[in-house]
Amino acid sequence: METFLYEAQPSRVIFGVGSLKEVSTEIKALGLKKAIVIATPEQESLAQEVAELLGSLCVGVHAAAIQHVPIEIVEKSLERMLELQVDGLVVVGGGSSIGLAKAIALKTSLPILAIPTTYAGSEMTPIWGMTENGIKKTGKDTVVKPKTVIYDANLTATLPTGLTVTSGMNAIAHCVEALYAENANPIISLLAEDGIRALAISLPKILDDPNDLDARSDAQYGCWLGGMALGSVGMAMHHKLCHTLGGSYNLPHAETHTVILPHVISYNASHAPEAVKAIARALGTDESDVAGSLFDLIKSLGVPTSLAEIGMKEEDLNQAAEIATENPYYNPRPIEKDLILELLGNAFSGVRPTQESYEISASK
Ligand code: NAD
Repeated sequence: METFLYEAQPSRVIFGVGSLKEVSTEIKALGLKKAIVIATPEQESLAQEVAELLGSLCVGVHAAAIQHVPIEIVEKSLERMLELQVDGLVVVGGGSSIGLAKAIALKTSLPILAIPTTYAGSEMTPIWGMTENGIKKTGKDTVVKPKTVIYDANLTATLPTGLTVTSGMNAIAHCVEALYAENANPIISLLAEDGIRALAISLPKILDDPNDLDARSDAQYGCWLGGMALGSVGMAMHHKLCHTLGGSYNLPHAETHTVILPHVISYNASHAPEAVKAIARALGTDESDVAGSLFDLIKSLGVPTSLAEIGMKEEDLNQAAEIATENPYYNPRPIEKDLILELLGNAFSGVRPTQESYEISASK
């Protein structure tokens, strides 16, 4: 076995349908007496329910979270935390709400208990993000990583099926890139493979019955593992491409990940044989067709499979390839701009990738 570094990132997880009722016990276990509940305005009534469960351990609800964590909201929130002498943050919601709690924790070191209601996985990472003057800064700090996480699939039953599938695919993307990360290690690879498996099995079941709480629990488990993968090892070309497409062309985050992932797997396959084996085992498919099999799965789940469908303009592909390749970064296969442009063209038109797609081009 090769040498590797593995760093455990502690968190306490309470998992299972109905586990929200443990929130008060868990806040006491953290030694907190004056918690506040953070959420988006859309999820204020859920935040009120959580506040009621907390009773006298809670000093109020702060339903002010919005996408991309604007600094102005963080500053106003900090004033409120000070005014109420809050000693801990309970956050219920998706990546945007957890993002606000993390930004507050970054400035105050207040401990976070997170109750995720989407599949984004932020609750498992030490990664924070904040937007100032239109630019989103991100960083890593263990102080923002939630101390306790409550996964209750009841709270995900209201997630629309389209978003369920695409944010599930986003979690699969974290797992895939963890398998061939520069600092990959066998522990995270085990989690990543099982994360792909759990999501590939549960997403079709959720599509059949969005209220199937067993399947929703399995998906939540897969996303937990995806979040751990994202927070533990470095990501590569797939995340860079999606970041470029989202940041420069305003394409929707989870859909972009969904469209791009099979093409990146095809591009990297020849340089990441162990990752390909793991993905094949997880998808229950042949090693020679993992990219195509994932593409077929996505298509069968009824979500977009082309960049054209999600708002990309063909004339921007060349510039996108340039932006995505201008700074060197780790990827198991060297980044070649011509091939990236070809990849983006295939993703634009929604071509089914094969394992050989970029091998033939490379040898031209
Ligand atoms: P989100 O938090 O932006 O939520 C989108 C909308 O869905 C909101 O209006 C929210 O109130 C609503 N919503 C949430 N849960 C719901 C439910 N169960 N039923 C119905 N509506 C619900 O979406 P997201 O995808 O969870 O988060 C995306 C953000 O998180 C992005 O900004 C991304 O960059 C960030 N993110 C950060 C990390 C990290 O490690 N820091 C990881 C993943 C994502």
